[in-house]
Amino acid sequence: MCESDVHLCMSISSPLMSEEARGSRQELYSSLLNKQDLANTKYGGVACNVRLSTTQLIIGNPKNADYPFVRINTCDIIGVSIRGTGAKKNVLEVIHYPLARGCCTSHKHGNVRTRKAIAIDFTDDARTCENWRNIIRHIIGGVTLPSLAEEGQMGASVADLRVEAPPSRHFLVIVNPVGGKRQGRQIWHKFVEPMLKEAGIVVTLLVTERANHARDSIVEMQADPSLTYQAVLCVGGDGIVFEVVNGLISRPGGEDLLQRLPIVHVPGGTGNGLAKSVLFTCHEACTPRNAVFVAIRGRRQALDLSRITTSDGNSHISFLFLAWGLIADVDILSESMRYLGETRLYIAAVYFMLRRRYYSGRLRMKLLPEAPVPDCMNMTEGPDGFTTIESPFLMIWAMQTSHSGITIHSGPGVRPDDGVFTVAVVQTMTRLQMVDLLLGIDEGHHFKHPKVKVFKCTEYTLEPLTDKGLFSLDGEVVPYGLTTAKVLPSAATVLTL
Ligand code: ADP
Ligand code: MG
Repeated sequence: MCESDVHLCMSISSPLMSEEARGSRQELYSSLLNKQDLANTKYGGVACNVRLSTTQLIIGNPKNADYPFVRINTCDIIGVSIRGTGAKKNVLEVIHYPLARGCCTSHKHGNVRTRKAIAIDFTDDARTCENWRNIIRHIIGGVTLPSLAEEGQMGASVADLRVEAPPSRHFLVIVNPVGGKRQGRQIWHKFVEPMLKEAGIVVTLLVTERANHARDSIVEMQADPSLTYQAVLCVGGDGIVFEVVNGLISRPGGEDLLQRLPIVHVPGGTGNGLAKSVLFTCHEACTPRNAVFVAIRGRRQALDLSRITTSDGNSHISFLFLAWGLIADVDILSESMRYLGETRLYIAAVYFMLRRRYYSGRLRMKLLPEAPVPDCMNMTEGPDGFTTIESPFLMIWAMQTSHSGITIHSGPGVRPDDGVFTVAVVQTMTRLQMVDLLLGIDEGHHFKHPKVKVFKCTEYTLEPLTDKGLFSLDGEVVPYGLTTAKVLPSAATVLTL
């Protein structure tokens, strides 16, 4: 039945296709998969055929081609394996995480995914079963069907192929067991470990035992981590990601390393700003399951970082925000209520709103020439290209991502790689206006508030003149005093759909 064994090797780059071949590609794909005659292939005990289109895996009904038993979007598949014992030894299990349907699952916070599995029994045809597993694994790894077909396999039956499995990926997983509501370990056991296992991803696990454990382990690694791992997955809050980013950049060649090695944030802390911002870009809900899904199926996306030099002369690499005034006070001084999750922020917000504290100081920014400049009190333009704003300040919030937490849409319209700081400045405000401001933050409405002035800059200096105060850098306290910040455009890599 087969002319010859055909080897499909994904590591070879695709030969250029002729125009004619390109034009008829669509039919060729379907023929690739329709040609097989698999009387012995069963789905739920009933004879079926298996087809692959450019976007779907189709378990077809041989008796009624128009109504297949199942259609699975290939973009939802995370894993495929052969399981089976005894007579049923060639059962292909395909695990997919489609978006859940229904009004309560696709709400404003993004789309939720649910796990589903299907089993196809290839009875005695081990070769076809294995080929299917490997083809689907290539697709999970990012190979698209056109390039599969471009390898010269058009029109061949899957039974006649010899498809090599792609190499397994290896992730470094770092779990902070004390982040947020102390759910790190549970998130690892319930979502991360099983999903990565289903996806065939090899894992090296580090459960942190103290602050800076993640950072130190990364700095002390003998081998270049980007040679061993395809991603670092952090389970916890932004604090653990902060350690990983700062650990990576402290290594020799750290800047290159941050570009090569993607960082994944699985939300498990009080502040999950990076996870939310990344998942928001691809309309995914900010849940551990969706985050792991995106880690498995995602492609690389650049993320801006910034270099923040604090008054003690130390430099930090930041990815979310630097806050001073209201937001910093709320974020940092509510730490003792961290067991409440993000609710702590609302409780603290009420307290600080009633207190309404003004700070004095100076903010100097190198503004983007093309961006509109809002009108501010005490604002002067210097000859050095920097614009200076003098106090009073109720808050200054310089951010690089769209969200600072799951329910904090701090920077509406901010893209992870736009190469700028978006700085929200509030100089004065009544308490009533503060209520308005704080209530609007979860939806990002605060940017429309007339008292909130939004600037776009690539560098800034913050010089506090009030003795007591706090700076929150990505949710962590940093020394209070003269601080400079510079954008590092596209300096890191995350994964997104
Ligand atoms: P949260 O969002 O709740 O603050 P994070 O993951 O951001 O959670 O972590 C908060 C802090 O906990 C970070 O500054 C990190 O350095 C620290 N940390 C990490 N692991 C541990 C540990 N095992 N024990 C104590 N602190 C830790
Ligand atoms: Mg934190």
